Amino acid sequence: MTIQPPAEKFAAVPAAVSAASAPVRAILEMALEGGEVSEAEGTELFRATGDDAEAVYATADELRRRANGDRVSFVVNRNINFTNICYMGCRFCGFAKRSEDKDAEWLEPAQIVARAQQAWDRGATEVCIQGGLHPKMEGTYYRDVVRAIKAALPDMHIHAFSPFEIWYGASKTKMSYHDFLADLKEAGLGSMPGTAAEILDTEVRMQLTKNKLSAEKWVEIIRAAHEVGIPTTATIMYGHIDGPQHWAAHIRLLRDIQKDTGGFTELVPLSFVHTESPLWAQNPDKVRPGPTALEVDLMHAVSRIMLHGWIDNIQVSWTKLGAARAQEMLSRGVNDLGGTLMNESISRAAGSDHGQEITARELVQIIRAAGRVPVRRGTTYGVREVYEHHDPEVIAPLVDRQGRDPLAFLEMFPERPALEAAE
Ligand code: SF4
Repeated sequence: MTIQPPAEKFAAVPAAVSAASAPVRAILEMALEGGEVSEAEGTELFRATGDDAEAVYATADELRRRANGDRVSFVVNRNINFTNICYMGCRFCGFAKRSEDKDAEWLEPAQIVARAQQAWDRGATEVCIQGGLHPKMEGTYYRDVVRAIKAALPDMHIHAFSPFEIWYGASKTKMSYHDFLADLKEAGLGSMPGTAAEILDTEVRMQLTKNKLSAEKWVEIIRAAHEVGIPTTATIMYGHIDGPQHWAAHIRLLRDIQKDTGGFTELVPLSFVHTESPLWAQNPDKVRPGPTALEVDLMHAVSRIMLHGWIDNIQVSWTKLGAARAQEMLSRGVNDLGGTLMNESISRAAGSDHGQEITARELVQIIRAAGRVPVRRGTTYGVREVYEHHDPEVIAPLVDRQGRDPLAFLEMFPERPALEAAE
C-alpha cells in the first residue's frame, strides 16, 4: 500500500524562504509542509529581521493563499459604544471617563436601537456593541439591549460584550458565566468580541490592568461562550511592555483553546495606541509607544503561520493602522479588513487618528488595488456578496470626515481601481 503524504508536502516553497537563515528556514519549511509551529519556534519567528523577516512574510502569504485564496473579506457594521463611564482604571485605556466628566456618555437601550436602525438602513448586517463598566449599571442591562435590538431588527447580528463585560454582568446578577451567557444567547446575542485579552500573561496584566480580569478568567469566559454556542473573535494587544515570548505564548494559548472548542472566528491583532494612554504618559521610559513597523508586519505574519489550519481568518484593524498600512498587511497573511464601523470611538479616544468609517465601496477599492477579490461577509464569515464585476453603492460616511480621505494613499498607484476608472 502506498501512503499518500499530505498534499501540502508538494506545494511550492516561496523563493524567499531559501534566503533565510538555517534555523528560520527549517521552521518555515516545516510549517509549509503542514507542521505545527511551537511556542519556542514562534518566538524565534517574532525575532526575525532582514531576509528572515521576508521569508516569514512569504510563508504567511502562501498559507493565506492556501486557506483563503485571493478573496479578502469585510463586514458592513456599526460600532456602538453605549458608555465610556468606567472605573476599572486599566492603565493603557484612553477611553474611560468618570460620570462627572463633561464628555461622559451613556445610552439607554432605546437610543442604541435607534443607532442600530440607522445602521440597518445603511446596509449594516451587524452591530458591534461594547462599553465601559459603569458602576451604577444593572447587570440585566446587557440582556435588555440585546432584546430591544432583536425586537426592532430581528435579522441584525448582534456582536457584543467583551469578556470583561461578561465578568461584570455575571458578578452583578450573581449568575455563573455559563448561565449569564446562555441567557444572552437566548435573548439573541449572535457572537462576542474577544477583546480585553491584551496579553494573556499574569505579569503583563498586573501592570496593564492590575489583573482585574485575569488571563485565567478571560479563558474561562471565552470557553464558556464557545460551550453555549456563542462564537467569539480573538485579539492580542501588543507594543507596550510585552515582547516576542509573550506574543508566541498568547497565540499558542489561543490555538489550544481553538483545538478544544472551535469557537474562534478570527484573530485581530490590535497595536497599542499610546498617545492618550496613562500607561505610556506615566512611564515613557519603560513603556513602548506602540509596536514598530517590523513588529506590526511580523505580528500578522507569524499569527497566520502559528494558527494555520486552526484559525484561518487573520483580520487587520484599520482603525489602529490606517488604510494604507492595513492594505500592506494583505501581503503579511491577512485576509480580512474588519468592518466599516460607521462610528469608532475606542481607538479615537486612545489617540488614533484614522477616522471613524471606511465605506463598503472604499474597502472594495482598497482590496482591488491590492489585486485581490473583495467579498462582503456576515459576522461569522458566511459570504454575502462577491464584488467581481460590480461595486457597492456610493454612500456618504455617517460622520463627516472634515475633508480627510482615507483612500488618498491609493493615488500612489499608477491606476485607480478598474471599476472606478471605468465610470
Ligand atoms: S479598558 Fe475597558 S474596562 Fe479597562 S478602564 Fe478602559 S473601558 Fe474600563
